[in-house]
Amino acid sequence: IILVSMKCKTIKGQEKKINTKQEIERKVDSLLQLMTIEEKVGQMNQYNGFWDVTGPIPEGGSAEKKYEHLRKGWVGSMLSVRGVKEVRAVQKIVVEESRLGIPLIIGFDVIHGYKTLSPIPLAEAASWDLAAIKKSAEVAAAEASAVGINWTFGPNVDIVRDARWGRVMEGAGEDPFLGSRIAEARVHGFQGNDLSATNTIAACAKHFAAYGFAEAGKEYNTVDIGTSTLHNIVLPPFKAAVNANLRTVMNSFNEINGVPVTGSSFLQRDILKGKWNFDGFVISDWASINEMINWGHAKDKREAAKIASIAGSDMDMEGNVYIEELAQLVKDDVVKEAILDDAVRRILRVKFELGLFENPYKYCDEAREKEMIGNPKHHEAVLDMAKKSIVLLKNENNLLPLKKEGQKIALIGALANDKTSPLGSWRIASDDETAVSVLEGMQAYKGNELTFAKGAEFFIGKQSFLNEVVVNTTDKSDFDEAIKIAKQSDVVVMVLGEHGFQTGEGRSRTNLQLPGVQQELLEAVYKVNKNIVLVLNNGRPLAITWADKHIPAIVEAWQLGTQTGNAVAQVLYGDYNPSGKLPMSFPRNVGQVPIYYNYKNTGRPIDKDGNVFWSHYMDVEKTPLYPFGYGLSYSTFEYSDLKLNGTSFEIGNDINVSVNVKNTSSVDGKEVVQLYIRDLFGSITRPVRELKGFELTALKAGETKTINFTLNKETLGFYNNDGKYIVEPGDFKVFVGGSSITVHETSFELK
Ligand code: BGC
Repeated sequence: IILVSMKCKTIKGQEKKINTKQEIERKVDSLLQLMTIEEKVGQMNQYNGFWDVTGPIPEGGSAEKKYEHLRKGWVGSMLSVRGVKEVRAVQKIVVEESRLGIPLIIGFDVIHGYKTLSPIPLAEAASWDLAAIKKSAEVAAAEASAVGINWTFGPNVDIVRDARWGRVMEGAGEDPFLGSRIAEARVHGFQGNDLSATNTIAACAKHFAAYGFAEAGKEYNTVDIGTSTLHNIVLPPFKAAVNANLRTVMNSFNEINGVPVTGSSFLQRDILKGKWNFDGFVISDWASINEMINWGHAKDKREAAKIASIAGSDMDMEGNVYIEELAQLVKDDVVKEAILDDAVRRILRVKFELGLFENPYKYCDEAREKEMIGNPKHHEAVLDMAKKSIVLLKNENNLLPLKKEGQKIALIGALANDKTSPLGSWRIASDDETAVSVLEGMQAYKGNELTFAKGAEFFIGKQSFLNEVVVNTTDKSDFDEAIKIAKQSDVVVMVLGEHGFQTGEGRSRTNLQLPGVQQELLEAVYKVNKNIVLVLNNGRPLAITWADKHIPAIVEAWQLGTQTGNAVAQVLYGDYNPSGKLPMSFPRNVGQVPIYYNYKNTGRPIDKDGNVFWSHYMDVEKTPLYPFGYGLSYSTFEYSDLKLNGTSFEIGNDINVSVNVKNTSSVDGKEVVQLYIRDLFGSITRPVRELKGFELTALKAGETKTINFTLNKETLGFYNNDGKYIVEPGDFKVFVGGSSITVHETSFELK
C-alpha cells in the first residue's frame, strides 16, 4: 500500500513534509520486502550517463542495454547526466516504466562548482576560511541541484604529502586537522541542514582510503603506509565528515597491505560502518570492483562481485560487475541476501532523505535551472573565495600592491591570457574560455599603461586524463616580444605555472619546476627588468627555488576558477589584502618530496630548535622552500603574551591558550593565527609539530586582539596501532604564530 501510494504521489508530483528518521526506516523496510533479488542488485548498480537520452535510442551498444535496465528497475543511480531535460528523461523511465518506480539518485563530480567555478579545492584550503569554504560548497550545490543533480562526488578528503601526485589539487593539502575542519565545512555546505531541500545535495567523501599516499606520487599506484599513518593522518578527515552527517563515501583505486580497498572489510565494514556507525552508503570508484582483477586479487568478475559486496562496497560505479554477477551469487548462496539488504537499505535511506520518493522530479525545474546557472550571486561568491585563496609568498621592498596610476606595466605569460586553464581539470559542466583572465582583470584598472606578451605558448594536447598534456619545451619565438615590453616597463607581472590540465586525475609529474620554457623565459626577462611580480598558476606545490632567490614579489594564485582575473587584479592592486596560508609545504626540489611539517624526529641528535639535525640531504637545505601554514599580507602582525591558564593539567581538563596579535602596519588585514603542539614522548612517537587549532581574525591597522584556543582530550591524544584513541600523560610544547615554523612557544605537563 505504501508503495502504490508512493507511486501515485510520484506521478502527480506532490511534495510531502520531511520524513522523520523512523518513518524512513519503516518505508525502507517495507519497500525491501517487495523487491526481487534482481531489483535489489539494480539499486546497487550505477551507470554513466549518455548524452542523447532525450533523442532516439541508439540500436545495440551499451546505451540500448542501459535503457532496458532502466525499464526493468535494474539501475539505482546514474552519473554525469547533464541538465534538467536529460535527468527528467531517465528518471521518467524508471518511475513510470519499472515495476516499483524507485527513483534514481543522480551523481556528478561537482568538485569546485558546477558551471560557475570556485578555486580548485587545494586553493580554497589556502584560505583557512571555513565559512567561505562552506559557502562555496553551498553555491556548487545550488547550481548542481538546479540541473537535476542530487549527489556530488565530493569532497575529496585525501591527505597528500607528495606534490608529484596529480590529484593534490582536489584535496585540502597535507594536514589532518585542517583537512578535517575543511571536510566538515564542505559536507555542511553541500548537504545543508535539510537534505530534502531542493538546493542541497548528498555529499561523498573520497577516496576511502589512503589514495593520496600512492607510492612516489604515481597515480593509481600501490599504497604502503603503516597503521599509525593510516589512523592518525589518513582517516581523521573521513571520520570528521561522517560525524558531520555525511551520506556517502567513495572507495579508492589503491590497495593497502595487499588488499585493494574496494575489497577491504577492515576499512569499509569494521571501521566505517562498524566503529564509526556510518549509515549512508559506499560507492565504488569508477570500475574499482573490476580493477581487483588486474590487481590480482579476484580472478574474474564473479569473484570480484563477491569480495566487494561482502567487504561493504554498496554500489558499483559503471563496472557492470554487480548487475552481471551478484544475483546469481545470492542464488548460489555464495553471497547472503542480507548483504544485499544492508546495501540497498543504505541506498534507499539516502533516496528517502533526499525526498526523491515524494517527488522524483523535485530537482528538475527548468525555471530554477535558468535562474541558478551563472547567477550573479554565485559569481560574487566565487570571486570572494578566489581572493581569499591567494597566498602572498614574497614581497620585497613593498613592490606590491602596484600603484594604480602612472605606471607602465608589462604583463607576460600565456597563462595571463588564458580563459580556460584557470578552470582546472574538474570542470565537466563548464565551457572552455569562461574564466576571467588575468589580462582582463588587469585591464579593468585603467590608470596604468598595460602591455601584454605571451612570451611562451602552452601546447595543450587532447584534454582527457588519459592523454598526455603536451608542454612547449622548445619554442621561444615569443621571447623577444616579452623582453621588449619588459624593457619598456616600470613593473613586469609574469603569470607562469601549470596549465589546468597538468594537474588532476592521471596527471602525476616527476618535475616540480615551472614546466616547459617558462623558467628560461623568467630568467630572460629578469635580465632586462628585475621589478618582477611572479603570479603562479598551479594545482600543486612547485619547486620555484630560483624565483624565490631572485624575484622580489611572488603571488600564489593557483587555478582560481571563473573569477580568476578579477581576484588576481584586486590583490595585485591592493583592493584586497591577501591572507591565505599554504595548506602544503613547498619543496626546494623534487628530491625533498614527500616533505611535510608534521614529520617525526629520528633517533639522531636534535638542534637548538628541537628539530632533527643529522637526518638531511647533503645537497639541499633541510627546510622546505615555504612551510605549511606560511603566507604574507600587506599588513604585518606581531605576536606577544602567549599564555596558558596553568603549567600542569589533569587529563580531561580544558587548557586555555591565549595570545595577543597586533596589526603593526597601517593597512587593515587578516591573519590566520595557528596553534601547534608537540607531545614530547609517546608510546607511539609523535610528530615535531601538530596543528590543533586556528583562527582567521581581522585586525584593523594598529589593532590588537587576544585570541583564545582550547586544548582538550580530543586534541591532545592520538591513535595507537590498534586504532584506539588514547591520551597519555607527559610533557607538551605549545606553539602559536602565523605559520608552522612559528617560534612563540610555551609548555605544560599533562597528568
Ligand atoms: C575518479 C572519481 C570520480 C569518478 C567519477 C573516477 O575516475 O577517481 O574521483 O568521482 O571517476 O567521475
